[in-house]
Amino acid sequence: MHRTATQKTATRKTAMHKTLVVTNDFPPRPGGIQAFLHNMALRLDPERLVVYASTWKRGREGAEASAAFDAEQPFTVVRDATTMLLPTPGATRTAVRLLREHGCTSVWFGAAAPLGLMAPALRKAGAERLVATTHGHEAGWAQLPAARQLLRRIGESTDTITYLGEYTRSRIATALTPDAASRMAQLPPGVDEKTFHPGSGGDVVRARLGLTDRPVVVCVSRLVPRKGQDTLILAMPRILAAEPDAVLLIVGGGPYEKELRKLARETRVTDSVRFTGTLPWSELPAHYGAGDVFAMPCRTRRGGLDVEGLGIVYLEASATGLPVVAGDSGGAPDAVLDGETGWVVRGGSVEETAERITVLLGDAELRRRMGERGREWVEEKWRWDLLAEKLKALL
Ligand code: GDP
Repeated sequence: MHRTATQKTATRKTAMHKTLVVTNDFPPRPGGIQAFLHNMALRLDPERLVVYASTWKRGREGAEASAAFDAEQPFTVVRDATTMLLPTPGATRTAVRLLREHGCTSVWFGAAAPLGLMAPALRKAGAERLVATTHGHEAGWAQLPAARQLLRRIGESTDTITYLGEYTRSRIATALTPDAASRMAQLPPGVDEKTFHPGSGGDVVRARLGLTDRPVVVCVSRLVPRKGQDTLILAMPRILAAEPDAVLLIVGGGPYEKELRKLARETRVTDSVRFTGTLPWSELPAHYGAGDVFAMPCRTRRGGLDVEGLGIVYLEASATGLPVVAGDSGGAPDAVLDGETGWVVRGGSVEETAERITVLLGDAELRRRMGERGREWVEEKWRWDLLAEKLKALL
């Protein structure tokens, strides 16, 4: 029996299991969640993927940058004109239309809340699998009554809520029904082990900055109080007492920069602290490579609302072969094998931070061992390809 063209298309569409990604967090907007989504998207079959995302910025520049980015992707990206996609009736209608038009059978919400509220409408329109991903901030929200309600509803109407690590799982699960909590699955971002690797060009960066032969402590992150660059600056006098040539290389930009520069002056360590500002992505591996030790003693703030989700930078440092000193905020310890790939210190503790960094700067063999173990761990557990397989299975 011959099938009609329509039947064939329908059969093919169902068999193809296409996925609709609904997200506010997608490049060219920069950031950790955006990179997470993009890296996953690049590892799904481009023929079976449609991304519905907001536009990066208001005005012509934002629209043009978004369009230029989209044109380079192997999959289809549909932009909403708004810069902030919300689960409004209009946006939900668009998502439903895209689901139908492209014959998608699964949906991935790049961030569970609030767009996960579209789930019932998409289910009704034919979605068979709905996966909603959580990042760091939901663990903080899970303390707030309104956000708990929201997460609970989203948990009930999706098949799987994903979490980054044990810390975020335990917090978010308390907001869900027992049934939704039991359907949770781990989906952390990965690390590109080919981009971040030992010998990534650190010598060139050191030479450029005049740091050849000096012990370098590197921190790569946005400059916000939670990340603990201030603790590192305050730790410098103690570190310098043991290692007078040591330099703190602060990579990244952000609203806290002025304060940090002021703190370096007040602590009288300006000669031993370098700020690079925000760097293009292509410069990051070599800047990790410029360090002997990676340190970011992050701390939890605002009563638990401002908390680290995972701390992917520790894994990027490990992939580069550096030992890491991490803070104990939220899920940061999930990215460190304490005592093996580095150490976890009390976030905000100047003494502990200084002590661990000093020990590492003074012991090349220990640095090598921890760096090698870190590299190995990333290859075993944190490769994107491995994690994308997990997502495919969920979808
Ligand atoms: P978040 O910013 O709090 O989400 O912290 P994460 O650790 O989850 O994500 C940080 C990501 O941003 C990591 O992949 C960093 O390598 C990256 N990053 C931090 N600073 C810079 C920078 O100056 N330039 C670029 N291109 N990436 C950066």
